[in-house]
Amino acid sequence: MDTQMLIGSDFKSGTEKEEIVLNPKTGESIVTLPEASESQIDLAVTAAETAFAKWSRTTPAERSGYLLKIADRIEAEADAFAALEALNCGKPINAVKEDEIPAIVDCYRFFAGAVRCVPGSAGGEYMEGHTSMIRRDPIGIVASIAPWNYPLMMMAWKLAPAIGGGNTVVFKPSEQTPLTALKMAQILVDILPAGVVNIVLGRGQSVGSALINHPKVDMVSITGDIATGKKVLEAAAKSVKRTHLELGGKAPVIVFDDADIGAVVEGLRAFGYYNAGQDCTAACRIYAGPKVYEKLVADLTSAVSDIKYGLDDDAQNEIGPLISLRQRDRVASFVERASEQKHMEITTGGASPDGKGFFYQPTVIAGATQQDEIVRREVFGPVVSVTPFSEVDEAVRWANDSDYGLASSIWTKDVSRAMSTAAQLKYGCTWINTHFMLVNEMPHGGLKQSGYGKDMSVYALEDYTAVRHVMIAH
Ligand code: NAD
Repeated sequence: MDTQMLIGSDFKSGTEKEEIVLNPKTGESIVTLPEASESQIDLAVTAAETAFAKWSRTTPAERSGYLLKIADRIEAEADAFAALEALNCGKPINAVKEDEIPAIVDCYRFFAGAVRCVPGSAGGEYMEGHTSMIRRDPIGIVASIAPWNYPLMMMAWKLAPAIGGGNTVVFKPSEQTPLTALKMAQILVDILPAGVVNIVLGRGQSVGSALINHPKVDMVSITGDIATGKKVLEAAAKSVKRTHLELGGKAPVIVFDDADIGAVVEGLRAFGYYNAGQDCTAACRIYAGPKVYEKLVADLTSAVSDIKYGLDDDAQNEIGPLISLRQRDRVASFVERASEQKHMEITTGGASPDGKGFFYQPTVIAGATQQDEIVRREVFGPVVSVTPFSEVDEAVRWANDSDYGLASSIWTKDVSRAMSTAAQLKYGCTWINTHFMLVNEMPHGGLKQSGYGKDMSVYALEDYTAVRHVMIAH
């Protein structure tokens, strides 16, 4: 197992506080990793600064070649990456192999193509005797900070557009899930010039904080909690750094009376509980029309009670545990508080199963109202609430009545209603008759307190590059 950080072309162990990396399926320690010291963080930033001088002048074709090589190596080592990610996150290994790794490889390949055809205004004479052109130049040193729910995928979403755009990076994985990033270090050192990507380990309050406050860092890209995003903004304000914030979500799902309830239930069973609900786009806040509410609750309850988890035969498992005991306690406390309210009913789940690991039962909460905490706050666990609505306007108003603005979905057979509702939703993404589907060509990112800036797509490349105007008098 790779355990060392990457600073320039050197592998180094941290010298500060030791963090235990746990297996969430058993609660047992996998490895203990010391975090980076201030001087090691400084060395990593300096390595990125030194590398920037040459890397920022490589051609898009050269950078494309590097990204393709990275994709090929991940693909070649897919089984080892999947095993490590499954171990560190507790995910069913087939989910990592079949869903995550192909999407990660495709992310590097997409950006390998996209960096060679970045769109922009045409150069020309917009003032007599002057020719203007637009340049898209790299921003500089990017501090990239990732969460624990999809460690290798978040690394791909951050690294590919950043280095593709000509920037250099200091990357910090979540202290809970650093293992696949450490394996990536060997691939990166084999393929990239020294210092283009550096990897440092440690907690948010120490290493993360030092990075976002570092005077030489030009841009901070973070995926995490809203509270963490606010800290990044405070730090960035001091030196006016660029920021790219992918924060939480609380996706509303509007189910109209004419929806195909079989498809809705199948969709919610998959997209409300995938990755044990530890997904910022999870279909977790259902608004159901008056004619379908009862049937939806009954069918969803029965479908969810059948979700497989915690079985010795991992091939049977559909979801894994939560990432930590702390996260499970947090999820349990949301459900406990909901269960104390008489108007809500836990129709399935609602407890931690006996046995090892940080598992929580897939849970459905019926009868939730718009003001309930379970409807308003991100749980980030396998918990879905269902709220009945009576009028279309009410459903749209409630869906938009949220601090979050990342993802949403609408379920109906009426195309006009689907389109008019989609136009009114204040979310970075709205799916119609599906949920959760991501493709590397399309952007992912939020509105409101879900943050701003896009991952995936050419819009991410725009975020990681600066538009410059050059004018020549003649
Ligand atoms: P978190 O905010 O606790 O941690 C995210 C990362 O930020 C970690 O690497 C952590 O070490 C670091 N961090 C924490 N405090 C910091 C600080 N003061 N300064 C610098 N870095 C700091 O979030 P998490 O618990 O790892 O992840 C769950 C959250 O991430 C959820 O809210 C979820 O919705 C969100 N998320 C959002 C997206 C998205 O695309 N919008 C994707 C995945 C997860």
